[in-house]
Amino acid sequence: MGDLGWVAYPKNGWEEIGEVDEDYAPIHTYQVCRVMEQNQNNWLHTNWILTEGAQRVFIELKFTLRDCNSLPGGVGTCKETFNMLMKESRYIKIDTIAADESFTELDLGDRVMKLNTEVRDLGPLTRKGFYLAFQDLGACIALVSVRVFYKRCPFLVKSLAEFPDTIPGSEASQLVEVVGHCVNNSLPLYEPPRMHCSTEGEWLVPIGKCVCQPGFEEINGSCKVCKMGFYRSLLDSLACSKCPPHSVARQTGATSCSCEDGYYKIDSDPPNMACTRPPSAPRNAISNVNETSVFLEWSVPMETGGRKDVRYNILCRRVLPDGRGLEECGPNVRFLPRRVALSNTSVMVADLQSHTNYSFLLEAVNGVSELAKDHAKQYVSLNVTTNQAAPSPVSVVRKGHTEKSSIALSWAEPDRPNGIILEYEIKYFEKEQDSSYTIIKSKETEMVVEGLKPSSVYIFQVRARTSAGYGAFSRRFEFQTSPYLTATSERTQALIVAVAITLALVLLAVVAGFLLTVHLGLLPLRRCGYSKAKQDPEEEKMHFHNGHIKFPGVRTYIDPLTYEDPNQAVHEFAQEIDVSFISIERIIGAGEFGEVCSGPLRLPGKREIQVAIKTLKAGYTEQQRRDFLWEASIMGQFNHPNIIRLEGVVTKSKPVMIITEYMENGSLDTFLKKNDGQFTVIQLVGMLRGIASGMRYLSDMGYVHRDLAARNILVNSNLVCKVSDFGLSRVLEDDPEAAYTTRGGKIPIRWTAPEAIAYRKFTSASDVWSYGIVMWEVMSYGERPYWEMSNQDVIKAIEESYRLPGPMDCPEALYHLMMDCWQRERSNRPKFDEIVCLLDKLIRNPSSLKKLVNSSHRVSNLLVEHASVEGDCSTRTQTVGEWLDSIKMGRYTELFMEGGYSSLETVAQMTSEDLRRVGVNLAGHQKKIITNIQEMRVHMNSTNSTVNI
Ligand code: AMP
Repeated sequence: MGDLGWVAYPKNGWEEIGEVDEDYAPIHTYQVCRVMEQNQNNWLHTNWILTEGAQRVFIELKFTLRDCNSLPGGVGTCKETFNMLMKESRYIKIDTIAADESFTELDLGDRVMKLNTEVRDLGPLTRKGFYLAFQDLGACIALVSVRVFYKRCPFLVKSLAEFPDTIPGSEASQLVEVVGHCVNNSLPLYEPPRMHCSTEGEWLVPIGKCVCQPGFEEINGSCKVCKMGFYRSLLDSLACSKCPPHSVARQTGATSCSCEDGYYKIDSDPPNMACTRPPSAPRNAISNVNETSVFLEWSVPMETGGRKDVRYNILCRRVLPDGRGLEECGPNVRFLPRRVALSNTSVMVADLQSHTNYSFLLEAVNGVSELAKDHAKQYVSLNVTTNQAAPSPVSVVRKGHTEKSSIALSWAEPDRPNGIILEYEIKYFEKEQDSSYTIIKSKETEMVVEGLKPSSVYIFQVRARTSAGYGAFSRRFEFQTSPYLTATSERTQALIVAVAITLALVLLAVVAGFLLTVHLGLLPLRRCGYSKAKQDPEEEKMHFHNGHIKFPGVRTYIDPLTYEDPNQAVHEFAQEIDVSFISIERIIGAGEFGEVCSGPLRLPGKREIQVAIKTLKAGYTEQQRRDFLWEASIMGQFNHPNIIRLEGVVTKSKPVMIITEYMENGSLDTFLKKNDGQFTVIQLVGMLRGIASGMRYLSDMGYVHRDLAARNILVNSNLVCKVSDFGLSRVLEDDPEAAYTTRGGKIPIRWTAPEAIAYRKFTSASDVWSYGIVMWEVMSYGERPYWEMSNQDVIKAIEESYRLPGPMDCPEALYHLMMDCWQRERSNRPKFDEIVCLLDKLIRNPSSLKKLVNSSHRVSNLLVEHASVEGDCSTRTQTVGEWLDSIKMGRYTELFMEGGYSSLETVAQMTSEDLRRVGVNLAGHQKKIITNIQEMRVHMNSTNSTVNI
């Protein structure tokens, strides 16, 4: 109404009128209806409207508007719209308003009010208030109501959070973020709660929430204090919980419960865990003395105190002679795997003094033992007496008088001789020439070593022997021979030179003669045979290739290094494949040089096969490319069902690739771990047989693998195992298991034979040692050899003749074979062909696998003392005579020889007719021999079918 501040201008424009609506209720309106007059410009504006901070304001108009056509006298200047304007600093038009429905004379007569409602919004507003105005330019309008309002999000309590009454933002779709305030003993959970106020005045998108603080729980939207005996600690557990066993909450609102007397909790124990106490003493402790080592074993305590983290500590004390008391064992005594915090119930104590009484206290502790100071410690004690032992190492070796070809050495008796020293052994070799060494013996603590080269540095080591055996060698001592000639040594020298020249000449003549004979085809060449490891200088045989002589029929591994151009080696042994024949589908692993992928290989005219694709990552150096392809140059020389097959290489395009057959089950160690306990013993032995057969092939080729381990065996979908990972550089650099030895080389210690670790003596016999470890990995389904023992402890334990114990449920026969592979003396280890032979026997006679390893050889976490067991496959190939003897037909040996059947290969081809021809006439004997020949053929087929000599 005008008295509320409406102002009309000019005076004869808008008029304030009191009326009644259709229900005869009084209404006040402003009207204007100067439709017949020209140039109308009638304003009606409000007083100053305060916005109260709102930035967006809504205006709702209710009005009626006359239909110009219904006016008597025609339209004339009649309008059917009016303008709505606003002013903060000057007037701005908000909109032109038209009626949805205009009224006519008729409506007036019927008293029907065709009321229009229009809503407009304004914003953003920047001032504290504004004016609103309606401009009429000649219409017939009755303005019934004008409502100016803004929207707000009302005060809200949600999830224990309070959100204040909030005015929305100025933009149409804007959301105003509001941070809530946690009420009533509650706290924000993870982050402060937030809500969003929309322009429509609605709360949207709640984020976060409040929860009752510890000691309270939410009941019906508010936080109630926890009762006595209950507690609530974490923000994310909603209700108060009853105190766990052996703990109490004596007040309401507890955030944790306190332990009863004699019970404890450590910080890392979860609040809902019962209070616990220290364990009782270990039980059933037993000791087993072995020279100066003692193996202690016990059972878990009767009472673990309610915890799972029971550990054991050992206190070792030496009983002093004549009852003078006890003295703690010094730092020289070694505990395997350690002295304190043992998680297993056994320990090996080594390096004790011989013939000495010791007292061991075994204590069980758990996580709360430290807190339970008042709790009397409970021990179990064991008294043991050590036996005789080998002498301790000689600590110092001194150099005496030195000449051009000799050095005088002296040393002191070991600190602990542990008996009467019978003799000393002196081992020496020229520095850097450690592939061969010499051992001489002396009964004294001095000796002159002769026959040395002048001006040369030699390495010397000394060890003592008593009736208990040899002690360990002393550390290495380096001494140099003198460069000056003395009268006597000069004479000797001259003599040596003369002899050497003579020998060289003789040797030259022999070699020349030999080559000539071969060249002329006069000398019968070895058809089947075992060509020794090429990398082994001691066993090395000459192999000629690459422009030299290559013996026909004898396949040997050719070191790619013999090629001046490494590319030539690759292309000699590997087929170049056009990259368009390969499609990469998946990544299956990571290699040293790049990703390993898989996909189909479609060679023209051949059926499609799945292959593994090793790629060389971009940005490689020429050296890396060479190293990468090195493996292909080696792999390409092999052709055996148990060696990963090379399909070819891609070198003419990038990336450079090596393509091999695809092995669906990936590497053996991971495969076994994934399928723990899933295979029959025969399946496992079958896998081992495959690996041994592949290794027999490699050793026959003269290739020493050096990194035989389950991780380097691949398994296909038929469980066929194939040896992979070739290339020397990889052994040294790529294998994550390879560790630097004291001599700087990188060696996978746990898999490597002691002589290979000590002086890099890698041979097929050291591969056999590794094969024994692979057997152990397979039979224990991928367990880590020597568990968590350090590499240093492994080396020491092996040196002291300890070996891995038999895996759980391992057939005794297999464990014996492993132990044979781990013979210290490498010549005593079985050869791969014997291993294959033995495994075949076991497979053919599964009952031989029934007997499992004795449980005393199976105690986890310790090593067992090595005891050699003879394999039942002879090292030598059986002769025809031996074979006939074995089937009790030895009487025919001579007849067989005379008939030309001097090898088992020829015997295997014999028919009944041949038998008659050599003179086996008795039908019963013929039958027996033929049956055994048939068996021999089966055996030969299963063992030799793939050997390609
Ligand atoms: P490598 O560089 O040879 O050690 O290969 C790395 C990983 O790729 C291996 O551990 C396997 O998991 C996988 N791999 C390599 N070659 C093959 C293959 N021929 N078939 C299936 N997987 C393979």
